[in-house]
Order: sequence, then C-alpha cells, then structure tokens
Amino acid sequence: MDKIRIENLEIFANHGVFPEENRLGQKFLVSMELAVNTREAGLKDDLERSVDYGEVCHFASDFLKNHTYRLIEAASERLALELLLKYKPVRGVRLAVKKPWAPIGLPLEGVSVEIVRTWHKVYLALGSNMGDKKQYIARGIERLGALEKCRVLSVSDLIETKPYGVTDQDDFVNGCLEMETLYTPEELLDKLHEIENEADRKRERRWGPRTLDLDILLYDSEIIQTPELIVPHTDMANRHFVLEPLAQIAPYVVHPVFLKTARQMLLELKNRNRKEDGDEDGIV
Ligand code: ATP
Ligand code: CA
Ligand code: CA
Repeated sequence: MDKIRIENLEIFANHGVFPEENRLGQKFLVSMELAVNTREAGLKDDLERSVDYGEVCHFASDFLKNHTYRLIEAASERLALELLLKYKPVRGVRLAVKKPWAPIGLPLEGVSVEIVRTWHKVYLALGSNMGDKKQYIARGIERLGALEKCRVLSVSDLIETKPYGVTDQDDFVNGCLEMETLYTPEELLDKLHEIENEADRKRERRWGPRTLDLDILLYDSEIIQTPELIVPHTDMANRHFVLEPLAQIAPYVVHPVFLKTARQMLLELKNRNRKEDGDEDGIV
C-alpha cells in the first residue's frame, strides 16, 4: 500500500515516569507512516481523496500535548489508535515516538518506541439454538458494531440448521459476518466472550445448547494456535452451517492453511457428504 510519511515532528510535551518530566516537559520527535491508497488523490490532484498530513501533524501534536502518559509505549499506542479511528482512509500506522533528552543520567542520541498498528479483516461464525435465536444473533451483531475498535462490514443471511455433534437439542440459526477490527485475536476473543455472556450464555457441555455462539473463523491470513485460540477455526472446513454463509459473503476468501477459498471448501464438503450418502459420483 502507498505511504504518507511524516518525519521527526517536534512536540514539546509531558510524558515520562519521573514527576519532573510531567512537570517541566521535554522534546519528543514523532514519525508517522500512514498506509493510505493515494492513487485517486494522485490522479485527480485532489486532497479530499487523501489524508491531509498538515492536519495529521496538528492532531498528533495536540493529542500528545493534551495528554500525559508515563510511557512512550502508552503515548504511541493511544496516538496510533486515535489516528486509525479518526482518519478513515488510513489502513495502518507505523508510529515512532522518540525522546532525544531521555533523562537516564548518561549521554545518548535518544530512545524511541516504534509500533505498527493496522485494521484487520475478520470473519466470525454466528450461532444460536435457544430462545429467540434470531434476536440473540441480531443483538450480538449490534454489540459488536457498537465497539469502536470493530466495524461490521457485512452479514450473511441467517440459515436454520440441524444441530452438529450433539444432536439431541433444538435446531440452530447460523450465519457469518465480515468485520474490521483493531483488536488482536486474543482481545477479540475476550470481547466475543463478553458479548456471549451478556446474552446469558452458559457453558454447560461442549456443543450443547447456547443462546449465542461467536467463533473466530479467520483473522487476516494468520495462523494461531494457543491453548485458548485456534485460527482458522479448526473445524470450519467440515461445517456446512459455517461455509454456506461464509461463501455467501466472501466466496473467494482463502483459508491460509488449506489454501482453498470458502466456495471451494463448501463445494468439496457437499461433494464429500453426497458421496457418504451413497452417490458415488458426487460433484466435481
Ligand atoms: P466449536 O469451537 O467446536 O464450535 P463451541 O463453539 O461450542 O465449539 P465454546 O464452548 O463456545 O465451543 O468455546 C470453547 C473455547 O474454544 C473458547 O473458550 C475458546 O477459548 C476456544 N476457542 C479456540 N479457538 C476458537 C476460535 N477460533 N473462536 C472462538 N473460540 C475458540
Ligand atoms: Ca462454535
Ligand atoms: Ca464458541
């Protein structure tokens, strides 16, 4: 992606762990690299289609002057967030905050923190098989959309499906959604759990009845395996109730492990199921 680069913007502000630093202030040098598609602005020679770097500089300067953080890590984190929320065309930010006069009692050229923060594309699976199922899902989507670090981009049709795994329970309503987020995968999982809990979700047995289930299917093309989180969702390629709505909203999104599109996985699953049902030919 194209970049707009601002180098060593000088700002006198009051961040630091020592009380003197908060009281007297010191010089900071801020460098920002904004990932922005500048093509349209370039072709039309039109600032409206880009990001006004002068305005960004004033915004960053005011923000760092009007807040006081102990750490330059915190100053960087907050400023990156503000830039990503405020300027819609900015897809990502590389931000370095440098203290040339860091008071460590030794001569040095400066100390700086550099971070990279971007919007991430995520696909979620939505499910419910208790109470007013569609309402639980609608409320869940609304709660996600209300988070400032999440932007819901599209939602599939909801489909009614038979229970999977544990079959002696009510039918499900399932769907998928596409969103952008500034949360890390782990932070997003915590948020999803909070939203499930607000919907009175009880975790009594695996694959048991639930008011609301929100699973992370894909997070960019990351592959994650921790005790709490596996992405892509381990079983998605085997679930018709996941692939059908996913293929509706994102037929060509690619599973980063199988290197297959949602549409391809859905066709292959249908084919497998057909073969298992005795139709040897299946479909190709
Ligand atoms: P399944 O994950 O097979 O669809 P489930 O949704 O019924 O089953 P839950 O009881 O909702 O399972 O979740 C159990 C745990 O799964 C969660 O607490 C979470 O830590 C973990 N988990 C691992 N990977 C994911 C993921 N991609 N999305 C959501 N939760 C996940
Ligand atoms: Ca699930
Ligand atoms: Ca789940």
